[in-house]
Amino acid sequence: MSESKHVTHWIGGKPWDGEAARRGDIYEPASGRVAGTVDFAAQDDVDAAVAAAKAAFPGWRDTSLSKRARILFRFRELMEEHRDELARLISSEHGKVVSDAAGEVARGLEVVEFACGIPHLLKGGFSENVSTRVDAYSILQPVGVAAGITPFNFPAMVPMWMFPVAIACGNTFVLKPSEKDPSASVRLAELWSEAGLPDGVFNVLHGDKAAVDGLLHHPDVKAVSFVGSTPIARYIYETAAGNGKRVQALGGAKNHMLVLPDADLDLAADAAVSAGFGSAGERCMAISVVVAVDPVGDELMAKIRERVAKLKVGPGDDAESEMGPLVTRAHRDKVESYLDGSAAQGATLAIDGRDPDVLGGAGDGFWLGPSVLDHVTPEMDAYKDEIFGPVLSVVRSGSYAEAMELISANPYGNGTAIFTNDGGAARRFQNEVEVGMVGVNVPIPVPMAYYSFGGWKDSLFGDSHAHGMEGVHFYTRTKAVTARWLDPSHGGVNLGFPTSG
Ligand code: NAD
Repeated sequence: MSESKHVTHWIGGKPWDGEAARRGDIYEPASGRVAGTVDFAAQDDVDAAVAAAKAAFPGWRDTSLSKRARILFRFRELMEEHRDELARLISSEHGKVVSDAAGEVARGLEVVEFACGIPHLLKGGFSENVSTRVDAYSILQPVGVAAGITPFNFPAMVPMWMFPVAIACGNTFVLKPSEKDPSASVRLAELWSEAGLPDGVFNVLHGDKAAVDGLLHHPDVKAVSFVGSTPIARYIYETAAGNGKRVQALGGAKNHMLVLPDADLDLAADAAVSAGFGSAGERCMAISVVVAVDPVGDELMAKIRERVAKLKVGPGDDAESEMGPLVTRAHRDKVESYLDGSAAQGATLAIDGRDPDVLGGAGDGFWLGPSVLDHVTPEMDAYKDEIFGPVLSVVRSGSYAEAMELISANPYGNGTAIFTNDGGAARRFQNEVEVGMVGVNVPIPVPMAYYSFGGWKDSLFGDSHAHGMEGVHFYTRTKAVTARWLDPSHGGVNLGFPTSG
């Protein structure tokens, strides 16, 4: 058995050297063993992290755009060099397979690459002669200390939706990652340091609600970015906004995949299985509901069944594994409870993933194999709840109109996809559907870094999506300047409201 690790905060450019009053366990989901502990921040630690970020702000804000960009480029190079190491670290604590973890690192890296262009992105506007010999211009300035609070399911990518853009814009940052898989964030802090980022610009604070509340109520935190479940997103939004901070809070999801009768059913079945069971369904853009429009339901189910039968479940670091374990035992048990629960409510348990064949043996790991519930209806818990595990629900629908109504009526609005060969139907879908991110024959339509990521309705509180230009706007304040340089013709008192002339 390998030795136990200890993960602590990263404050002011170095690991914290205090003694934590509270700690949490870090599990290795594939074996079920406790792999180590993580310190939980108390209010004093929150204050120390925010103070370090506040102290670093004036210097970082005034660092030239070229210097900031160069540090970002160096950070990008280091991440690239350490991509495999980061992926293995993520896999060991989260459970997802290493190739999938490498994918999340790659998608996070794309945001760093976007942020490398910050000199261009921060260009304001300039209008000469808005009035006689008066010029007007706008400048984008950082907001100060920004905080990021992130979920367990993407311990590298989701923080990287936030901090590359925040830091590039001249802010300093305190990250509160998930306590379930905290190591990747500390490794990222070390790489920042190696890239030459001044101490205090990027800090990591570990912990639970106490750490989060400390940040939400701290007067020196000016902006809060959150990604996690809907009830917590709503709480973060209300609390931080109530304290006068700007907030973007991304919540949970229930992503539907609509399959029309004219779709390529092999493509649709590949997509449903990949997007339903990749990362054991623990993705905010996972497909959790397939809506099959009559008469394709039975044929599609047969194709899904064929593909699920071939999936290999096993530890994340086994190159053969396609799907790993769930993140904790409690989460596995909760996800599993939907199988019997839904059957009791009238669904058909078409594929029961309990007691899966696990490569190398299941041991005490948090395993649940791919499971499919068929004939699910909107009243069932499996439909209403975000299960966040390898349980795919199939809803049979009589028509396109009925399916559209179902998808748009869902309280979540993160992602959705349509599978069809009819361009008109796809265009109508993208136009009408009440969901923020739409795929056309693409099951996981995660926007590129230069677009912005975010859902609608209960999947996002606030009006700003993550990264892309919306990220730049979120992490900057616009200042509009109107300037007149003295000219011999100036002068004279005028109490009227200024107008151009
Ligand atoms: P979570 O909401 O339990 O936790 C998210 C963060 O909030 C963690 O850092 C956690 O420590 C903190 N937190 C938990 N309870 C809190 C409380 N009572 N008060 C203050 N802070 C609290 O989410 P999770 O289980 O880590 O992640 C899975 C969820 O995240 C799913 O709902 C998933 O859909 C969602 N998610 C959404 C997106 C998106 O882009 N919309 C992306 C990834 C994950």
